Amino acid sequence: TKKADLGPLVGAVDQGTSSTRFLVFNSKTAELLSHHQVEIKQEFPREGWVEQDPKEILQSVYECIEKTCEKLGQLNIDISNIKAIGVSNQRETTVVWDKLTGEPLYNAVVWLDLRTQSTVENLSKRIPGNNNFVKSKTGLPLSTYFSAVKLRWLLDNVRKVQKAVEENRALFGTIDSWLIWSLTGGVNGGVHCTDVTNASRTMLFNIHSLEWDKELCEFFGIPMEILPNVRSSSEIYGLMVKKKKKKKKKTIGGRCLGDQSAALVGQMCFQDGQAKNTYGTGCFLLCNTGHKCVFSEHGLLTTVAYKLGRDKPVYYALEGSVAIAGAVIRWLRDNLGIIKTSEEIEKLAKEVGTSYGCYFVPAFSGLYAPYWEPSARGIICGLTQFTNKCHIAFAALEAVCFQTREILDAMNRDCGIPLSHLQVDGGMTSNKILMQLQADILYIPVVKPSMPETTALGAAMAAGAAEGVGVWSLEPEDLSAVTMERFEPQINAEESEIRYSTWKKAVMKSMGWVT
Ligand code: ADP
Repeated sequence: TKKADLGPLVGAVDQGTSSTRFLVFNSKTAELLSHHQVEIKQEFPREGWVEQDPKEILQSVYECIEKTCEKLGQLNIDISNIKAIGVSNQRETTVVWDKLTGEPLYNAVVWLDLRTQSTVENLSKRIPGNNNFVKSKTGLPLSTYFSAVKLRWLLDNVRKVQKAVEENRALFGTIDSWLIWSLTGGVNGGVHCTDVTNASRTMLFNIHSLEWDKELCEFFGIPMEILPNVRSSSEIYGLMVKKKKKKKKKTIGGRCLGDQSAALVGQMCFQDGQAKNTYGTGCFLLCNTGHKCVFSEHGLLTTVAYKLGRDKPVYYALEGSVAIAGAVIRWLRDNLGIIKTSEEIEKLAKEVGTSYGCYFVPAFSGLYAPYWEPSARGIICGLTQFTNKCHIAFAALEAVCFQTREILDAMNRDCGIPLSHLQVDGGMTSNKILMQLQADILYIPVVKPSMPETTALGAAMAAGAAEGVGVWSLEPEDLSAVTMERFEPQINAEESEIRYSTWKKAVMKSMGWVT
């Protein structure tokens, strides 16, 4: 039978902390044609440590691509119409590998990992000049969250990494670099690059000059020759090599964006003041600030939003990062076993419809924005003999909403103009209780696209719009397949304020556990 010709298609690899997906979109309508998803293991070798296996991540990408192509075949869709592949990825997670063997030299140190707490303390005592040295160049506070300190730890503690650096065999990258290098040939000419959005999360990148910063590299003791080339977020990086045949696939180009930037693009937040919040493993609210680098006075980060082409201007964003959102649901599943699947949380929460005075602060990796408090640890408080697992489930969902409220408050204060509604996406947004609670706690409407895979869509759009690919024009009309669902606030502002102030009391109690 003749295969359906839908015109140019674009693929996206969405490599998140929880899972890997590959998705294929119709570039005319933004319709999602097929996808495949594989969950990724997380290892916790010691308290506060979080690692993943870079080879498992790469394997999951191959598996998702193969399975999606099979599904497209069953739908009679011609995969040779896939004109480009975009990559969006978990940011900050750090990999060092050997360019001669293609082998990772250690597990990937995940963004949530806290092992660098003492590295950060030592470095903060040595900051040259004023305390703003790192922040003024990178937009970031000196924190365990970003790649530079993870890389410093690897250089200090892993003999294989030290040896490879000495012998000029080591390459550093965030997950995008590791994947693109591997997919474009690896030891046989893989392209070692990253984009400005991912680079801006390393704490080694100057967000004004858009280059690796020599002074920062000296401060962190990072050899610059192991860093990837920094490119724009939308251009062809290389051609993908088929895994088995070692043959260049002619049509595959690509582009990459850190996942939060990809979601901003996928939600069409191209204007100054437009914002989105993504609920995945963590929760990330980004507000486009246009060509201006706005520095927060309320604990937010300044980051590169995107640069959609080599000669295109750079856009910046203010970002509120919450370390633990969906991860608390996974914790209830894997560590406490009170649910078997993440979706079951909704059923438990629905049974009670309230936390009954129970508050859950999931500060598993300390607290990120707006507190930046590495000494915090998780607490569940307000318990009575009446409390059951349903209340704890509800409190976990509420925690995600309260954390977002703290970020939104900070964002409104920094921007001066309060957001009138919140655009949302990410794995957790399929949870309707969560969405309604969020509207109630923010007291503004929450708006969710019918197609929740906006991160992948953003990466696909950036890839499809790349010079030399040119099948996507980044115009809103191109999203005709996406409709919106709205959640209006249903409780009054006064009730919402009372809950929120009790939450803040709980947050104060979570701080100072680790000294
Ligand atoms: P990431 O991009 O960080 O990998 P995703 O956007 O894929 O994350 O979202 C996955 C996270 O969302 C997981 O932590 C999972 O526990 C959580 N999650 C998925 N479905 C639900 C649900 N129905 N209710 C609450 N949490 C959910």
